[in-house]
Amino acid sequence: MYRTNSCGELRISDVNKEVVLSGWVQRSRELGGMTFIDLRDRYGITQLVFDMETNKDLCLKARSLNREYVIQVKGKVAERSNKNLNIPTGEIEIIVTELNILNASEIPPFTIISDTDGGDELRMKYRYLDLRREPLKNNIILRHRMSQETRKYLDNQGFLEIETPVLIKSTPEGARDFVVPSRMNPGEFYALPQSPQTFKQILMVAGYDKYFQIVKCFRDEDLRADRQPEFTQIDCEMSFVTQDDILNTFEGLIRHLFKTVKGIEFPGIFERMPYQEALEHYGCDKPDLRFGMKITELTATAKGKGFTIFDNAGYIGGICAKGCGEYSRKQLDELTEFVKKPQIGAKGLIYVKLQDDGTIKSSVDKFYAAEDLLRWAGQCHAEKGDLLLILSGEKYHTLNALNELRLEMGNRLGLRDKNIYKPLWVVDFPLLEWDEETQRFYAKHHPFTSPKPEDTDKLDTNPGEVRANAYDLVINGVEIGGGSIRIHNKELQQTMFKVLGFTAEEAERQFGFLMNAFRYGAPPHGGIAFGLDRLVSIFAGLDSIRDVIAFPKNNTGRDMMIDTPSVISQEQLKELSLKIEPNPKS
Ligand code: ASP
Repeated sequence: MYRTNSCGELRISDVNKEVVLSGWVQRSRELGGMTFIDLRDRYGITQLVFDMETNKDLCLKARSLNREYVIQVKGKVAERSNKNLNIPTGEIEIIVTELNILNASEIPPFTIISDTDGGDELRMKYRYLDLRREPLKNNIILRHRMSQETRKYLDNQGFLEIETPVLIKSTPEGARDFVVPSRMNPGEFYALPQSPQTFKQILMVAGYDKYFQIVKCFRDEDLRADRQPEFTQIDCEMSFVTQDDILNTFEGLIRHLFKTVKGIEFPGIFERMPYQEALEHYGCDKPDLRFGMKITELTATAKGKGFTIFDNAGYIGGICAKGCGEYSRKQLDELTEFVKKPQIGAKGLIYVKLQDDGTIKSSVDKFYAAEDLLRWAGQCHAEKGDLLLILSGEKYHTLNALNELRLEMGNRLGLRDKNIYKPLWVVDFPLLEWDEETQRFYAKHHPFTSPKPEDTDKLDTNPGEVRANAYDLVINGVEIGGGSIRIHNKELQQTMFKVLGFTAEEAERQFGFLMNAFRYGAPPHGGIAFGLDRLVSIFAGLDSIRDVIAFPKNNTGRDMMIDTPSVISQEQLKELSLKIEPNPKS
């Protein structure tokens, strides 16, 4: 028997018990004639004691152990004189009578403690060591809990968990596909699913009514902190539902997760905000509602006073930063630099300071009378002691910059507390998005999303104006999930493909199977998918999704531990009928 108990289990009530424990040496220290070892496993840490006086050989053996050795000990539980009340086992220790080295360990390349000295790449290369650390372990356990609770809730609601294939044909989620060559069909390729979208719709045609799957999706996109080439979705679909049915069902899931996993309950239903309102008031489609600081349009009041920059702008908008009316020159310069960064792209920043002594100071004093500035202040609900920050230019570009500025001010003012959660449904997304570069429309969500019935007429005449039955769940400014009510009618789906610039043949080649299925009685249906990685990272209070994934890839899409992607042999290439072009970089 390797152990009678885990390293997180024994308490003061176990004193005098004979026990066997196994685990890793976390650290060891010598104090007079005594040696103390912290023994660690997944469940916790237990202190072991060896006494030079009573058992010299055993104590010397204990002193020979290094960090991360795997050992087994036999001994008696004793009350500790020096208690550590910070850990559950801190009132006891084990007086060891037998020590067995199960496996030695080399000195790990970084320390296995919460605040490790290991850099990102090193931690990724030795992920098995990184995963031994408490914060990572807790993330992985949290993720497990959330998956289990998701299954519980959805099972209770009558959803069936159904697997869909991984070797498929391209799914249109707007990213590049990862492809897999087929040996048996030379020159042909599978694509890895960007999502199980078409399969879940076909399951609805097949009558399965409520489907879900916790599933890997693959998208070949440029990577960021919250993106991985393979990631996990909680993917769901339902038949005979309206948008409200979906929002209610999945708001229920999110509430269930918050309640069971974090003990948080939300009063009232989640706020629902039309896309256009989100853009006008927050400058983006995923507003962080932990704080106000809404954007106010000032175009009408700020134009026409001879200030050319405003006079030439299509849009002028501002935000009010509460209590920042005494911002210094340096602070304002910093903010100006911030909005001028290429990713934000504003030309400059106008400020109005409503100083504590009642005076007003502004970078456009020359052009505007105090009463003009006060009018803006009124519009933005600014009072004495507040600061107005104003940007101008093309409307959506400026709104986007105001969004970044708002978030920056939120950070500076400490308004984005990780322990506060503000969920929000953003609804009424546009169906299509115009792309200047290729001069064509793209589906904002995906091509199976249905237009709002009252807007369907505009599909031919003014496609850009058509709104969709599409929705996103946003928490604290992070898009956690999105979905739509689907098109279930073959003709409408064909029209949609046409609007998206597919020829009839292309549509048939790519989506013929779905159109075929729609010929045999497709029920009205809709669904949603949540990004599990992001959801877990939000629950864990992390900005990156990497540390909620056991084996993530780095920002060049490489798995540092197994060292892949990697080259394959000439024989394999031949078998797959593939030839590699010489890499221009090498
Ligand atoms: N397949 C969609 C996505 O991955 C989600 C959905 O529409 O259900 O975003």
